[in-house]
Amino acid sequence: MAAAYWVIVRLALLLLLWLPALAPGAVVPARFAPGDALLIVAPHPDDEALCCAGAIQRARAAGARVAIVWLTSGDAFELDAMVVGRTPHPGKRGLERLAIRRMAEAKVAAGRLGVQKEDVFFLGYPDRGLSRLLTDYYHRSYRSRYTGADSVPYGDALAPGAAYQGQNLERDLLAVIGAVQPTLVLAPTPLDAHPDHRAAGELASRVLSARGEPDRAAWWIVHVSHHEPFRHRWPTPRGLHPELPLDPPPRAALAWQVWPMDAAEERGKEQAIRAHHTQMEVMAPFLLAFVRRNELYAREPLPEEPELPAP
Ligand SMILES: [Zn+2]
Repeated sequence: MAAAYWVIVRLALLLLLWLPALAPGAVVPARFAPGDALLIVAPHPDDEALCCAGAIQRARAAGARVAIVWLTSGDAFELDAMVVGRTPHPGKRGLERLAIRRMAEAKVAAGRLGVQKEDVFFLGYPDRGLSRLLTDYYHRSYRSRYTGADSVPYGDALAPGAAYQGQNLERDLLAVIGAVQPTLVLAPTPLDAHPDHRAAGELASRVLSARGEPDRAAWWIVHVSHHEPFRHRWPTPRGLHPELPLDPPPRAALAWQVWPMDAAEERGKEQAIRAHHTQMEVMAPFLLAFVRRNELYAREPLPEEPELPAP
């Protein structure tokens, strides 16, 4: 009798362990099929490599389509513009020059991961401005205090000259999704500490829900916190440690999926990250800390639906 009882208890425990795997919502598969289409939603050039270089390479190796959309070109990173421009006063032009370099680096990184040239999309909206676009500036124009621009200033962008308004950002992201028809979208979790990342995740969630495809998203994280004591806690240790796992972050308690990579994928990820020269100059130890034995994706839905103005 006692034996039967323990068999039942064990079966119940096993079932509990399996429940997360049975939960609805996208999970990043270990294998892709040629008919799959993966879309990476990256707030800034370098996020695509940090979050998802392993999944990108594996999907491309399987013949799947991979597209990357960068919502901003990273034109608010003043310290970076000072360092790479060798000037204490980079100014608005210096920040635009940095953004142009960052877009070129992102193309090289994407190429190293096997992404086709026609599958990279730059939207060119303001770095450090995405959350404002989705709230106060959904219907009116926002001016970047970094570049002074109030419309997309980059000729390489999907819609050059588009006013910096949330509705235009949403329209451009929808256009990319319409062109790619992704079967899986990898976007930053709205629990990320960087406001652009949070906004990008909320926007991705909103447009996928509007398309009736909320289950096609899986979430990743890059910034756990800008505040002590968590700021320097993840990923730890800093620097290149390809032999170590990427442990789930100490905050942002989602059901993290540990997605293992092989050694070749790790080397490819490192090469993609190193393509971002302007970023490596100022924060190599942080960037290289993402080259680990696995990537992390969250398969739980968002804690709550974002509130955005009606279009
Ligand atoms: Zn970023």
